[in-house]
Amino acid sequence: MNPILVNQPLLDGNEKKYLLECIDTGWISSEGPFVKKFEEQFAARVGRKYGVAVSNGSVALDAAVAALGIQPGDEVILPTFTIISCAAAIVRSGAVPVVVDCDPNTWNMDVSQIEDKITPKTKALMVVHIYGLPVDMEPVLALADRYGLQIIEDAAEMHGQTYKGRPCGSFGAISTFSFYPNKHITTGEGGMLLTDNEQLAERCCSLRNLCFQPQKRFVHQELGWNLRMSNLQAALGVAQLERLDEFVARKRHIGQRYTELLSDIPGLQLPLPRTDYADNIYWVYGLVLKDEVPFDAEQAMRRLAQYKIGTRPFFWPMHEQPVFRKMGLFDGVSYPVAEKIARRGFYIPSGMALTDEQICRVAQVVVEVFK
Ligand SMILES: *Cc1c(COP(=O)(O)O)cnc(C)c1O
Repeated sequence: MNPILVNQPLLDGNEKKYLLECIDTGWISSEGPFVKKFEEQFAARVGRKYGVAVSNGSVALDAAVAALGIQPGDEVILPTFTIISCAAAIVRSGAVPVVVDCDPNTWNMDVSQIEDKITPKTKALMVVHIYGLPVDMEPVLALADRYGLQIIEDAAEMHGQTYKGRPCGSFGAISTFSFYPNKHITTGEGGMLLTDNEQLAERCCSLRNLCFQPQKRFVHQELGWNLRMSNLQAALGVAQLERLDEFVARKRHIGQRYTELLSDIPGLQLPLPRTDYADNIYWVYGLVLKDEVPFDAEQAMRRLAQYKIGTRPFFWPMHEQPVFRKMGLFDGVSYPVAEKIARRGFYIPSGMALTDEQICRVAQVVVEVFK
């Protein structure tokens, strides 16, 4: 039996054609025409005025934090159950990450815990939509409004998703996306910042390009980074974006099939198909082992590996990261929901190229392992 990889992208649209165009014209750097095109088309798709393409989703968060002027001593509230990129961007700016636990069913930040964490030092709320369902945005927007806080929206897992009909990625003062190969659309490596604010867009562009100045190019008033996306990456992005609706439909199909095939296993918590504000787009199909299961996620993943089924563990909470504990952050805190799903959650093959046959085979193996 061939292995079933945890992710495989689908690149059989116009990707090759547009890449050849880059080679044939010689436009391979960030100066090439696909970059502008991808920025404009992706921003339009999310209903935003400006898109700034960058080299990945993690640096998009670094640039977002810097562009919003978040400084040493400031506090930023985010979920503990997320990828390190979110907290890393805050810590690198000198600000303090303050975390909240997640909801046991949606795995998204528990928005009812945010208000207690707001202090006079709080400058921003970093919301991160997790695994396919959006954060409940209305209460977050109300808090941001009441306390005068900026929102950074990490929509890296939410291409094509909506919250109450409004596109994810349209809520933040700055919103960020990733185009890593396991996201709904990919550029290999890549990311984007979106905003409606012209000054913020200009700041993001400047930070992306070493803060070169238009007049005196090599005289710098500020430190930036080289975060530029190449024309080759953007060419892939334009081709992928043409198929976003199809890709979202495919992911929903994968999610629905898994749910049909796995819902009879008593020990497994499956992803919620929907909430009252969104239908799941199943960025990944996560499983959480219920208390009655006598082994943890690591062991379940080892068993699936024996059948050559690829898996990945869930995120490890920010407050339990050795790197942050060594810095003296998150001393003595506990967030029980995130701690539990980190140990009992993992995801099964969920990539765009997964075939219906592979879905059945993965489900059969999962059934076998949980018998
Ligand atoms: C993938 C991801 C990122 C990081 O994106 P990269 O392009 O891999 O750097 C950031 N945030 C979330 C929520 C992600 O899923």
